[in-house]
Amino acid sequence: MLDLALSRHRWEELTYEPPRAEGYLRTYRAMVEEFDPATARVGAGVLPGPQEAAMASCVRHRVLDALPFWQACVFCTAGV
Ligand SMILES: [Zn+2]
Repeated sequence: MLDLALSRHRWEELTYEPPRAEGYLRTYRAMVEEFDPATARVGAGVLPGPQEAAMASCVRHRVLDALPFWQACVFCTAGV
């Protein structure tokens, strides 16, 4: 997914040019690569469990919404 984002997949649908997005994506990609599930600590309040992750998808914009952590699709609420 991060490689797809780094390839600027669907960036033309943004209403702005994100000057720092590529750097953030590369940083996040490095974090994901370094993540070792064997040494990760799991506990209440640390990270949402699988049952709490992305529970909805905006049909209009085809993006995942991590309800209830985010109230709505970031594109639907842009400019609100
Ligand atoms: Zn939407």
